[in-house]
Amino acid sequence: MDFTAKRNELWSQKVIKGLASRNMTGYYAKTKEEACQIALSLIPEGATVTMGGGASISECGLLDVVKGGNYQFIDRNAYADRREAQLLAYDADVYLMSANAMTEDGVLVNIDGNANRVSALAYGPKKVILVVSMNKICKDVDSAMKRARNVAAPINAGRFGLNTPCSKTGACADCKSPDTVCCQFLITRYSKHNDRIHVILVNEDLGF
Ligand code: SF4
Repeated sequence: MDFTAKRNELWSQKVIKGLASRNMTGYYAKTKEEACQIALSLIPEGATVTMGGGASISECGLLDVVKGGNYQFIDRNAYADRREAQLLAYDADVYLMSANAMTEDGVLVNIDGNANRVSALAYGPKKVILVVSMNKICKDVDSAMKRARNVAAPINAGRFGLNTPCSKTGACADCKSPDTVCCQFLITRYSKHNDRIHVILVNEDLGF
């Protein structure tokens, strides 16, 4: 028996309950393929869809399916003016993303340099679908913030080749570098808007 999967499935029920208490909807997927199918079941045909970064969205195959499917995908990489695409995202039907960390009682923790991603989660797109690997679940907000600062942010800084202390050492130095990816911190503890935030928890490791 895969005891990690068994534990994740059991633990996910606590996270889903926590999300429900915060007016957000949670799902559990055993595999990344299942996560992709759950996400697709939440996206109406013809919907305008976009995303903010999100290695998890690519890794579970969702990005390719949406790009090739019957949706109006706003591809920010296709815009000469990225700001134009980012502003369009605020009026999209569906926004796809992951989270840098989450608590076991359903609080989402995200860090952003440019802030387009955290601002779209806070307000704008009609529906936000997050694909979150169970390895991002933390005990509480403090440990989730530590994960976001010490794991997700240094990896992000490294993959974009940014000139930050963490991209050289792998550890956060609480920098104020012009290249920092840690400009805005968003803690999502409740959703005012019914049926807006959907979180798909995935047993398999995705993103970072
Ligand atoms: S504050 Fe600076 S050093 Fe720390 S994770 Fe963010 S970018 Fe890296």
